[in-house]
Amino acid sequence: GGVGLGIGGGVVSARVLDGKLVAALVKDEVRARTQALAARGVTVGLAVVLVGDDPASAVYVKAKTKDARECGIDATDHRLPADTSQAGLLALVAKLGADPRVHGILVQLPLPRHFDTDAIIAAIPPHKDVDGLHPENLGRVAQGKPRFTACTPAGCMRLLAHGGVTVAGASAVVLGRSVLVGKPMALLLANADATVTLCHSKTRDLAERVAAADIVIAAVGRPELVRGAWIKPGAAVIDVGINRGADGKLIGDVEYAAAAERAAVITPVPGGVGPMTRACLLENTVRAAELA
Ligand code: NAD
Repeated sequence: GGVGLGIGGGVVSARVLDGKLVAALVKDEVRARTQALAARGVTVGLAVVLVGDDPASAVYVKAKTKDARECGIDATDHRLPADTSQAGLLALVAKLGADPRVHGILVQLPLPRHFDTDAIIAAIPPHKDVDGLHPENLGRVAQGKPRFTACTPAGCMRLLAHGGVTVAGASAVVLGRSVLVGKPMALLLANADATVTLCHSKTRDLAERVAAADIVIAAVGRPELVRGAWIKPGAAVIDVGINRGADGKLIGDVEYAAAAERAAVITPVPGGVGPMTRACLLENTVRAAELA
C-alpha cells in the first residue's frame, strides 16, 4: 500500500486494486482450464453476437473475442445488420443454442430499439448464458446457488477478495439497481454475509448511507457522484462507473483522488472493474464447457 502525499496535501492511504493485474491472473487460470479441456479433445467455443453498428459495442466485441482467443477459446463473431428482425435474431440464437461446438453465447447489449431484449436473453439456453443474464441464472444467484454470475458483479467480488477485504459482517452499500450490475451485486454481497443497502435514483440521504459503509460499490453512471468526503475511513471502494469527461477522458462514479485519501482500497477508472468484467466472461465460458 502506498502512503504518500495526495492531491491537496492529504495523505493517500488507499491501496489501489489493479484490475488489469487481477484480470491477468484470472486469464491465466482460464487458459489452464481450456488447456485441460483441450487435452480431453474439447475446444471451448464462444459465440459473440453483434447486431447493428454501434461503435462502442463493436469495440467491446472485438476486445472480448481477442481476450477469448488469448485464453485458447474459439471465439466466433456473428454480425447482423441493424434492421434484423426479432425473429431473425431468435433464429440465430436457436442455431447457436443447438450447436455443440458453442459452449457460450453472448448477445452484445444494448440491442437496437426494435428488439425485445428480454425475450432474446430468455431464448439463450441457460447453460450457455455466459453473461449470466437469463432469468434462470439470475434466479440461481438469488437462491445463493450461482451457475453463471453476471460478469461485472462477479469481477467486483473477485477484486474484493484479491484486496483482502472482509465481506462477511461488513456493511455494504451498492449504488445502482440495474439487472446488469447493481441487483446481482447486492445479492452476491448478501450471499457472502454482508449487510447490504441497495441505493438508487430515489434514495434519500445517499451521503449518510455511503458514510456508514465498509464497502461501497458505485454503479450509477454519473461522474464523481460519490464524493470523497463521504467515504468512511478504511472503507473498500469499487467504482464500476464509466463516464466520459469533457476532456474525453474516462472517469468513474467516485471522486477518486479525494476518496483515495480515506479508503483502504480503491479501484481506478479505467483499469479497475472494466478488465475484470472481461476476464469473468472468459471464466464463465470455460465453466460452461466444463459443465457441458
Ligand atoms: P443503468 O443506467 O442501467 O443503471 C443506473 C442505476 O443508477 C439505476 O438503478 C438508477 O436508479 C441508479 N441511479 C441513478 N441516479 C442515481 C443517484 N443519483 N443515486 C443513486 N443511484 C442512482 O446503468 P448500469 O448498466 O448499471 O451501469 C452503471 C454504470 O456502470 C455506467 O457508468 C456503466 O457504463 C458502467 N458499467 C461498467 C462496467 C464495467 O465493466 N466497468 C460494466 C457495466 C456497466
